[in-house]
Amino acid sequence: MATEGGQEVQSPLTVLPSMGIEDLRVNHMFKNKEELKSALSRIAIKKHFQYKVKRSCSLTFWAKCIDENCEWYLRARSSKTSSYFRVIKYKNFHSCSLNHKSTDNRQASAKVISDCIKEKIRDPKTNYKTRQIINDMRDEYGVQVKYNKACRAKELAKNNVRGSNEESYAELPAYLHMLKLSNPGTITRIEKDDDNRFKYMFLAFGCSLDGWKHCRPVVVVGGTFLKTKCGGTLYAACAKDGNNQIFPLAFGIGDSENDKAWKWFFKRLKEAIGEREEMCIISDRHISIKNAIAEVFPGIYHGICAYHLKQNLRSRFRGVHVQATFEIAARSYSVPEYDSAMAELRNINPEITTYLLEADPKRWARSFFPKRRYNIMTSNIFESINSAIEHARDLPITPLVEALREMVQDWFSRRKEAATCQFFDVTKWANDVMESKLDQAFRMKVQLTLFQIKRIGTPQMKLKKTASSLLNSKLNQDVLRKEEEKEFETMPSVVNT
Ligand SMILES: [Zn+2]
Repeated sequence: MATEGGQEVQSPLTVLPSMGIEDLRVNHMFKNKEELKSALSRIAIKKHFQYKVKRSCSLTFWAKCIDENCEWYLRARSSKTSSYFRVIKYKNFHSCSLNHKSTDNRQASAKVISDCIKEKIRDPKTNYKTRQIINDMRDEYGVQVKYNKACRAKELAKNNVRGSNEESYAELPAYLHMLKLSNPGTITRIEKDDDNRFKYMFLAFGCSLDGWKHCRPVVVVGGTFLKTKCGGTLYAACAKDGNNQIFPLAFGIGDSENDKAWKWFFKRLKEAIGEREEMCIISDRHISIKNAIAEVFPGIYHGICAYHLKQNLRSRFRGVHVQATFEIAARSYSVPEYDSAMAELRNINPEITTYLLEADPKRWARSFFPKRRYNIMTSNIFESINSAIEHARDLPITPLVEALREMVQDWFSRRKEAATCQFFDVTKWANDVMESKLDQAFRMKVQLTLFQIKRIGTPQMKLKKTASSLLNSKLNQDVLRKEEEKEFETMPSVVNT
């Protein structure tokens, strides 16, 4: 029996969850004292009053309004055999003065704010910013929260919803074990240091390993830093499938982009995907990637991303013309066209060509590349994966790996569904490319003796110079160039799935 607003109120025994509490009553029960305090604090900040704890121990909890003259109070009790706390007396009436009401509420601790916001960060794809926490607490609860406290509250809420980083590392082996059981052919590996602490992780899904043999033998690799308190780097290897879609091959997690970590990742990658004829690896110009490839894949050619090189060039030598001419040098199929572009760059500034020659044209210029790059001149497909998992980079390790699984499953599932409705001899992408060139192709005449293409159709079509073979023909260059232009000129922000 208790009073509320001067009237006696009784309530059946009810166990309240920590969230969603509105009308607190006598006999309401909480799983423990912390949940009771959290619920009471949220009521306090929502109703703009403050309370102080008069007594708190393992058996009792007694709170009073901050104004000694106010009548509001709550008493709750537990028992020796249970952690549950039951409200035994609750006078829900304030007689305090307005002087005690403030937007700076003592009950709005980081812990209580984290309880208020945790549902909003449950979905890792939601980017709930610290400024938004401050705005929401002001709009929904009428309380002003300082930036630092909002940051702490966000961190607490993340730990509460997703588990702490420490717990997550402990869960990883069991998670990977279950992943292997439910995904046949999947390869996982965890490397620990001498003190049994986590060092590296490797993961290649069975479906990726199955599909790799049908992809172009060009592997794009890259690393991206993680945003958790523990830091770390995510490594990824990917390829392009026959439908020109990004095909994730393997992932790794380690401390940073250093020689040891990259070597460990490449060794596991080699065990998983092996080496294929004509295979090559494309990456940015990170020295540790270069060193690791040289050691682990000595027979595999390492190409560098032309986009990254262009960015390096832009930071050293100003001018749109420099970048445009570099693109011609990098993308040209023939050595004379490359030579002409390099001569132009030398005229602008001889240091440009010195810089590019030091970067080794065999690694960035198509006309000198000793293997086939299959139009993959950049590491943009890795950047696309990076962009697709942007939301997961601040997750603890196990939810991060789960986000990778979710992404791969989602992509492969949608592709499988789309593929079952198609009945072309080639993939839809290849079919579309050929179809778009059909009219142009029908107007060409191939002279087999000279391997030259001559136009016999519309006079406005321009063929600058004839090439010595069908492969080096201007037509082929135009077709292939248009295909790669999108990839080359801008980093993708949207993932091609
Ligand atoms: Zn009061």
